[in-house]
Amino acid sequence: MYFIDSHCHLHDSRIILDVLSIEDRAKIANVQHMVSCATKESNFKLTAQLSKDFDSILPCFGIHPWFVDSISENWKEQLEHYLIDYSSGIGETGLDFTDKTWDREKQIKVFEHHLMLARELERPISIHIRKAWDTFIHILKKTGKLKVPGIIHSYSGSADMIPIFEHYGLYISFSGSVTNPNSKKVVNALETVSKKRFVLETDTPDIYPYIAGVKSSRLNEPKNLPAIAQVAANRIGVDFEKFSKCAYDNSLSVFRSILKGKKDN
Ligand SMILES: [Zn+2]
Repeated sequence: MYFIDSHCHLHDSRIILDVLSIEDRAKIANVQHMVSCATKESNFKLTAQLSKDFDSILPCFGIHPWFVDSISENWKEQLEHYLIDYSSGIGETGLDFTDKTWDREKQIKVFEHHLMLARELERPISIHIRKAWDTFIHILKKTGKLKVPGIIHSYSGSADMIPIFEHYGLYISFSGSVTNPNSKKVVNALETVSKKRFVLETDTPDIYPYIAGVKSSRLNEPKNLPAIAQVAANRIGVDFEKFSKCAYDNSLSVFRSILKGKKDN
């Protein structure tokens, strides 16, 4: 049984020095691939290098909504340069309206550009949405269905919106937050999403899962994905192996083009 970590950040300065052993431990845990997302221009190069160094690492390039203020004058060229040079996806991008002082208009502009690139270059996209669901749905209605599927990472929305997102070509990604004993909303979402439309992720090095006997203050890593899958399957009362196989196949459906491109290089 194999796993794909559909969203993580292996370039992160908290873990980068340990990346060799992290990759090793992932392999031992049967985590075959890791989709590692850059978050701003300054970590594009490192994300690209990681994907060159490790066959298991699939890169995505994008501007995270938290970092829209960091963009340079030629960020669009930068982003396109990496997307064209590497077999890669787009992200992490999206909308985060948690803090009222953040520049929402700028987030929307930057995110819409990523969506346009995903359609034009036919790439999978990894989307972060927090407290911005209405705006997100409004943008989706305007832009229409994605040509290549994308994911909503670490889904925190309600179960009743899931059919809308499935309609627009999106998959729903579940992180360690599904293991939180208080996460009834996330568990409801997991129960609602169709079998062919969910994937799993760690969001390494964040969202450390609630694993019995483990302190939650540690840094997360992809090797924890099978444990997340186990708890998630238990919480919705389905067979762990079948559940994990579905998640694996679904991740392949989303990210197959990156994998194929990587092998052809
Ligand atoms: Zn992330």
